[in-house]
Amino acid sequence: PRRLIAPEAAAEDQDASLRPLTLADFTGQEAARKNLKIFIEAAKARRDPLDHVLFVGPPGLGKTTLAQIVARELGVNFRSTSGPVIAKGGDLAALLTALEERDVLFIDEIHRLNPAVEEILYPAMEDFQLDLMVGTGPGARSVKIDLAKFTLVGATTRAGLLTTPLRDRFGIPVRLDFYSVPELETIVRRGAHVLGVAITDDGANEIARRARGTPRVAGRLLRRVRDFAEVGGAKSGITRAIADRALRALDVDAIGLDTMDRRYLSLIATNFGGGPVGIETLAAALSEPRDAIEDIIEPYLIQQGFLQRTPRGRMLTAQAFRHLGLEAPATPQQ
Ligand code: ADP
Repeated sequence: PRRLIAPEAAAEDQDASLRPLTLADFTGQEAARKNLKIFIEAAKARRDPLDHVLFVGPPGLGKTTLAQIVARELGVNFRSTSGPVIAKGGDLAALLTALEERDVLFIDEIHRLNPAVEEILYPAMEDFQLDLMVGTGPGARSVKIDLAKFTLVGATTRAGLLTTPLRDRFGIPVRLDFYSVPELETIVRRGAHVLGVAITDDGANEIARRARGTPRVAGRLLRRVRDFAEVGGAKSGITRAIADRALRALDVDAIGLDTMDRRYLSLIATNFGGGPVGIETLAAALSEPRDAIEDIIEPYLIQQGFLQRTPRGRMLTAQAFRHLGLEAPATPQQ
């Protein structure tokens, strides 16, 4: 079964009602927001396309949302696709030739483009040109086609997954970080308002603390907690007590870790003496793809100070042992 707090997108997220539509409405990511605002205003004043933007960060932090906001603030069309969906160079060429001046083309999971497609992207990003080979054999020649001056917005979970030539072609790299609890409280209160459900400050705080630093998770928890509140017929809407009861029932612990997080931590604690243990070994033991572990499970555990990535493998911190209610190994870990 899917994890309730899995930060990757699910069908319910396609209900776009919780998405903020403007930079002003977008909570958190202060630095990214300020910079984008300046770059967008400058590009608009010059009537130039915005430089290509690369959003980097774990799933569910708002990369797609920000890409849509960028297009909206620029007053241009938003076209969206994703790396694994573009199978052939021709698919990308079709997308690129359909763009109008200053449009935004969003490519999610841009690290998963195949090399042949990536080759086509380089001249498109740099010179707004398509280099196509026409014909085969000795008669083959290359044809250049001018494209509209567009903005490519890419999203990826880790910048290191991109090839250097691709990464270098983005003028505006933007790192997104996990959200603070107060920021998530604001997002939860706004979400409750949009969903038309009452929520107390305590209730918003309880959901925010357990949302794994991730707006997508906050939205998903809010919807589930709302169900509990409505079925329970609570007059004051979502209170801390209701949120706590609902989240416990959903197996989300006091700091927002779910069954998968705890399986991961317990595995290292009990089977590998706290580590160090290699990622491949963990992936095999958990029957989870390595990518999912590195992109979804680990970043939050590292940010929370539960886990360290060392050259010899993953290691749990004393704090992780405490959270699991286990004794840390006697030998001090370095
Ligand atoms: P990503 O592309 O990074 O995986 P999305 O942009 O799809 O993340 O965001 C996931 C969900 O979280 C969306 O439903 C969006 O409405 C919500 N969200 C993301 N960032 C914010 C934010 N700063 N404020 C409010 N909601 C947000």
